[in-house]
Order: sequence, then structure tokens, then C-alpha cells
Amino acid sequence: MSIEKLEVILTHSAKELGFLSIGSIPVSLMEKESKYLDSYLEHSYNGSMEYMGRNREIRRNPSLLLPNAKSIIVVLAPYKPAIKQSIDKPGIASYAYGIDYHYVVKERLKLLAGTLKEYEPNVKYRVFTDSAPIFERSMAVKAGLGFIGKNGFLISKEHGLHTFIGIIVIDLELKYKEESAQIDNLCGSCTRCLEACPTGALIAPFKMDSRKCISYKTIESKEQYNVSDKNEKRAGMIFGCDICMDACPWSRKGEVTNWEEFLPLTLENGSSLLDVSASFWLELDEKRFKREFKQSPLLRAGLEKIKKNVNNEMANKS
Ligand code: SF4
Ligand code: SF4
Repeated sequence: MSIEKLEVILTHSAKELGFLSIGSIPVSLMEKESKYLDSYLEHSYNGSMEYMGRNREIRRNPSLLLPNAKSIIVVLAPYKPAIKQSIDKPGIASYAYGIDYHYVVKERLKLLAGTLKEYEPNVKYRVFTDSAPIFERSMAVKAGLGFIGKNGFLISKEHGLHTFIGIIVIDLELKYKEESAQIDNLCGSCTRCLEACPTGALIAPFKMDSRKCISYKTIESKEQYNVSDKNEKRAGMIFGCDICMDACPWSRKGEVTNWEEFLPLTLENGSSLLDVSASFWLELDEKRFKREFKQSPLLRAGLEKIKKNVNNEMANKS
């Protein structure tokens, strides 16, 4: 089948599956991104996220992800919530309101790739959503889907910041986005995200010290936190942080998600995840946590960590 026909099939299928946009690029070395990562790691900005230093050759050379890899298909999935959690509740980042995007986006990527298989039965592919050492945001930029803002988010001119990036690496040649389709950075003189960050984690435009980031502190950090230390600014967040995203004028762009999986979880007692109080978290036992949150991104932090985060916020408020 011609690459033009494959392009039509892919575009149509991606839309049917609810993806916002799609673009394909040839597999190529990611030298600039690798150098940036080297510098990031040299400064230890990754904190205890040691996985960021692993598989650097695969990050640099995505062709190692699949024998005979030719193309990378990049799609955006919407997760913008209809309502934000009230600021008087223990804060949860909006990407974590519903079911973990790792499962949800991956399932739809498999369906998208499956469409191609109907026409090209011998095709081989792998699907990824933040699940492999890949420079996903740069790939999305190369595919013409947006630009990277000073806060590090991929920003789509049409769909804003609330998007997950899905990747399919495939051994087929496809119709590629022209380099001219790439969008230059449109931040201009704006620095709202840097000013809004309560911890100074955005140390310069496009540069984050993850060790200072609330998202890192509330999810990834292995450091022990002493609740009597009232020195941790976390702006009421107990899982992740949306502050530099919400500060961005581009976050007003984009439609509310129509993917049901990303709607806020409803708990066994009928209440919404967005409405739960600090006492809910502190009284929750491990068994119920695992049952209620088995498909949620909150599982990644674990109940013990979440309780520490809640205690931290309560200590800072008192
Ligand atoms: S996620 Fe929060 S803490 Fe991290 S850089 Fe953005 S505003 Fe700062
Ligand atoms: S807040 Fe301003 S500087 Fe930061 S990413 Fe958005 S447009 Fe760019």
C-alpha cells in the first residue's frame, strides 16, 4: 500500500480512537536531546530517579527499540478535566484524576497500530506511553504537534498542555512531517511558569531541577521527610503538581477530555476522588488503597508516601 494511503488510514483511525493529533517522523538519532540529558544528569537534577540515567544509548538511538525500525508515529491524547479539584482538598495533579494513562493510552495505541496491521499484515511495531527511555516531547515537536514551553511541557497551539504523548515505533516507511511543519517556541517574553513555581524548581527557562519539584517530592523522592520540618513548600499538593501548567496562558487552550477513563475516580463510598479529605487518606488502609487505586497513577507513590505527603501539608497548615 502507498504511504499516502497509509497516512489517510492512520489519520482517520487516530481521530476515531479519540486522539487529538498525529504525526509521523523517520527514526533518527536524538543527539541534541542526549546532550541535554547528559548535562541534566551531571548536575544530579534527576535526584533519586536513577532510571533516567539508564538506557542512554536507546534514548539517543531509538532504532534500537525495534529491529529494522523505520518510523515513529506520535499522537496526543486529551486529559483536560472539566473541573479542577478545590484548593482546600489535598491536591492531586490533574493527570492523575482517572485511570493511569500508561494503560489507557497504550491500549488505544495498540488499536491504532492494529489498523495498520489489517493493511500491512507483516508490520512489526511497539507502543509506548512514557514507558520506555524515549525523548517523547522532542519527537512530538519533530512531528509538528507542538513546541516545548519554558516549563518543559509540550504545548499544542490547538490543544494546550493537557495531553499525553503516545508513541508507536514501526518497521514501515510512512509519510513524514516536513521540517517546516515544526512550530517554533511561542513563549515569547512570558515567564509566568517560572514566577509561579513555588519551589524554584524551574531554575531557568527550559531547565528544571527535579529535586526541587513538588511532583518529584510527592511521588518519586526516596528521601525521608520529617513531618516536624515545616520547610517543605508543596502548595497543598499530595501527588504531583499542576502549578506551572495552570500558570501558562496556553493551558486555556484545548477541550475537556472525552475519554471516560480520565474522569475523576469514583470511590467505593460513591464520593469523587476530588472530594476526599486529609482524614480519608490518613485512615485508609493498605488493602483498601490497593483495591480502590489499582488502576490509578497514585498507586505509584504508594499509600505510605501519600500519607507522609498529607501529614506534611497538615503540618504546614497548622
Ligand atoms: S510542577 Fe510545580 S514544583 Fe514542579 S516545576 Fe512546575 S510549578 Fe514547580
Ligand atoms: S507560562 Fe509562559 S513561559 Fe511558561 S511555558 Fe507558558 S507561555 Fe511559555
